[in-house]
Amino acid sequence: MKIKPPIFVTRRLPDPAMAILAEHCTVSWWDQVEMPIPRDELLRGVAAAEGLLCLITDRIDAEVIAAAPRLCAVSIMAVGYDNIDRAALAARGITLTNTPDVLTETTADLAWALLLAAARRVVEGHKLIERGEWGPWHPLQMVGQDIYGRVLGVVGAGRIGQAVLRRGRGFGMRLIYHNRRPNPILAAELGAEYRPLNDLLAESDAVVVTAPLTDETRGMFGSAQFALMKPASIFVNVARGPLVREDELVAALRAGRPWAAGLDVFDREPIGPDHPLLALPNVVLTPHIGSASVATRVRMATLAAENLVAVLSGRATPHIVK
Ligand code: NAP
Repeated sequence: MKIKPPIFVTRRLPDPAMAILAEHCTVSWWDQVEMPIPRDELLRGVAAAEGLLCLITDRIDAEVIAAAPRLCAVSIMAVGYDNIDRAALAARGITLTNTPDVLTETTADLAWALLLAAARRVVEGHKLIERGEWGPWHPLQMVGQDIYGRVLGVVGAGRIGQAVLRRGRGFGMRLIYHNRRPNPILAAELGAEYRPLNDLLAESDAVVVTAPLTDETRGMFGSAQFALMKPASIFVNVARGPLVREDELVAALRAGRPWAAGLDVFDREPIGPDHPLLALPNVVLTPHIGSASVATRVRMATLAAENLVAVLSGRATPHIVK
């Protein structure tokens, strides 16, 4: 009988994923759904593991790799892998896989939810009614900004960014984007034009950030960038919090440029009720739920399980991070 390789899973995942893992591997896991694994449990958990299935809340650094002498495959249930020390993996020849594509449309939907909610003051309006302060209708009550027919600028127009742009066509928007280099497919398929970052910021009515967190993008948006934006513009970040210098965003929103922001990600997560962003009326915040639909989370977990099994059995998977 074939020996099943030992693997460690840092959270209990939806059943279809656990079933795939159990069929092919000897599985140990941190048996909680809501709370991340404590560091010492993680270090203990990986000790005998040949495979590790982890989440964005787990810091997989040189210490974890050193604690896992048999490790040869890491599978993250996410598309972003900025919490993983890739150099430490590479030094040991450990393969990393992620879960792109399956979460693209769900995350683009949330970017749009934040964009529309921030532009049309949806949460502010809800809170006003909740407080019992909805007085008689008047012409300037809760006026917001139009999105239809305006200019949409996406920073990081990859899978999710392109899905955000595609939705912009339905809103009659002019589409522009910024990547490290122009992508001719975007002009051909979406009619989206390339712009250097500063030009995009100056020209857009809505800026949506969907670039990965890297050494290059960390702190990419601060006072200097916000000062370039239009006074009536909306800023949306569904990428990673550290792309934005948060204290500078708070100051910029207080000064009214950008006019409003929709944020799903933050510098240090989770944030609490005393966070300075929550003192501002012109923000809409969500707790890092970009990919959080029922179907998408099951797809992500299943794909992460399939990726790990494939690597451990020497089979090909298109989701190896290069
Ligand atoms: P992707 O297909 O790799 O797209 C990333 C894009 O960013 C690429 O087009 C890339 O183009 C561009 N880019 C990379 N470095 C850049 C830089 N320095 N300046 C400007 N553009 C840059 O990835 P994806 O699947 O769309 O995911 C994007 C990110 O979204 C993930 O890394 C993750 O952090 C985040 N995300 C968040 C959630 C959430 O829950 N909020 C959910 C899913 C994903 P070039 O290579 O040409 O520069």
